[in-house]
Amino acid sequence: MRINVADLKKSPGESIELELSSPLPELEFHGDRLSFDGPARAFLEISNTGKTLLVEGEVKGTLEVRCARCLEPFRLPVEATLSEVYYPADSVEMVVADPAKEEYQEWIPFSGDVLDITPEVLKSILLVLPMRFLCDEGCRGLCPRCGQNLNVAPCACSGEDVDPRLMILKDMFKDSNR
Ligand SMILES: [Zn+2]
Ligand SMILES: [Zn+2]
Repeated sequence: MRINVADLKKSPGESIELELSSPLPELEFHGDRLSFDGPARAFLEISNTGKTLLVEGEVKGTLEVRCARCLEPFRLPVEATLSEVYYPADSVEMVVADPAKEEYQEWIPFSGDVLDITPEVLKSILLVLPMRFLCDEGCRGLCPRCGQNLNVAPCACSGEDVDPRLMILKDMFKDSNR
């Protein structure tokens, strides 16, 4: 996701609003690589604060993920907010900035006339992802015994289906009732 800031760079105090649509690279998430389904869209306001370019707005996209319970693939819409400060790496003014200040450490250098906000967009999406993906809060998952997707149909073992550790208990009860 790239933004041409050639004009804005020359206009302190100015800001622009823009809408971007752009493909994003795969996202690394807990050892998985997640692909985006189609381009992501960004609605941004970029302001020239004099020394820096402030990028604020939101990003929307759709990820291809797999349900943690039933293992079916599904599309997950994601929406994240973005608020980043970019400074020209070649800027003379920035040399006087105190690097000890925390504020500056979060600033992101850029050079030339193009801001590539892709890394920050991916980071902000990672922050809003849930710990695990569920196709539906009420997903019934797979039968632990036969592997049947219980969202599709109940399986033959339902009813009799208990944890194997409990099965042992059940047998013990059977014996003691004799
Ligand atoms: Zn599911
Ligand atoms: Zn089953």
